[in-house]
Amino acid sequence: MVPTGHGHSLAMAAAAKGALVSSRWTHAICEMCWIKRAGSRAAHRLERPELERCCGCGFATMSGIYQRADPESMWCGGYHALAGDQAD
Ligand SMILES: [Zn+2]
Ligand SMILES: [Zn+2]
Repeated sequence: MVPTGHGHSLAMAAAAKGALVSSRWTHAICEMCWIKRAGSRAAHRLERPELERCCGCGFATMSGIYQRADPESMWCGGYHALAGDQAD
């Protein structure tokens, strides 16, 4: 498979590391950011959302929506100071 856009060798290296990486690529986002990014696509939501910081805009949200995205394209830069994200 050929990645679109600029060649992301980083992404390839990250993929090789497997599960460790997924948390950096999985972002909590608010509903506004979801709509901006995904349009009318249905979001997967947690059944019991917790208060999180939106990785798209930095504001608190309880949307329960998560999206995989390049950390460099997100407000968070891939940094999540949450439990489960300490495996670095
Ligand atoms: Zn994030
Ligand atoms: Zn947001």
